[in-house]
Amino acid sequence: MKSILITIAGFATIVGLLWWAGSAGANDPDVLSTNGIHWHPELEIYIEGEKFEIPANIGLVGGHSPMHTHTGEPGIIHMEFDGRVTLKDTELGNFFDIWKKDFSSTQIFENINGEEGSVFMTVNGEENLEFETYQMKEGDKIVVRFE
Ligand SMILES: [Zn+2]
Ligand SMILES: [Zn+2]
Repeated sequence: MKSILITIAGFATIVGLLWWAGSAGANDPDVLSTNGIHWHPELEIYIEGEKFEIPANIGLVGGHSPMHTHTGEPGIIHMEFDGRVTLKDTELGNFFDIWKKDFSSTQIFENINGEEGSVFMTVNGEENLEFETYQMKEGDKIVVRFE
């Protein structure tokens, strides 16, 4: 009888430790998901008032980046991550890195803040000062302007 109780107590301890380890991982504030995301924020870019068409197949040439664009839906960024996704993975700057274009609070493409204009950004209609570090979310409408 005693050995059964010890076995049960031991088993309960192991289950408890596993639960604790699992929830500790899930509670990591930097981890957004442990089983992937499939989000579609939208990005529009205007340079001196003129819309810049974001090309299709960004991130899909010579590989398959989790962040990419498809044909026929200009401005939709596909965020198709498997497994563990960190908040850092969702930063807007990653998309520009994959695209191999410059983007920050002081520059978009070859346009640098100065007499010609400055970089402005809104997310869902609200001014946003995070620029390349902005962590995109499902359904976001992001507008970047240089004017
Ligand atoms: Zn998609
Ligand atoms: Zn896709």
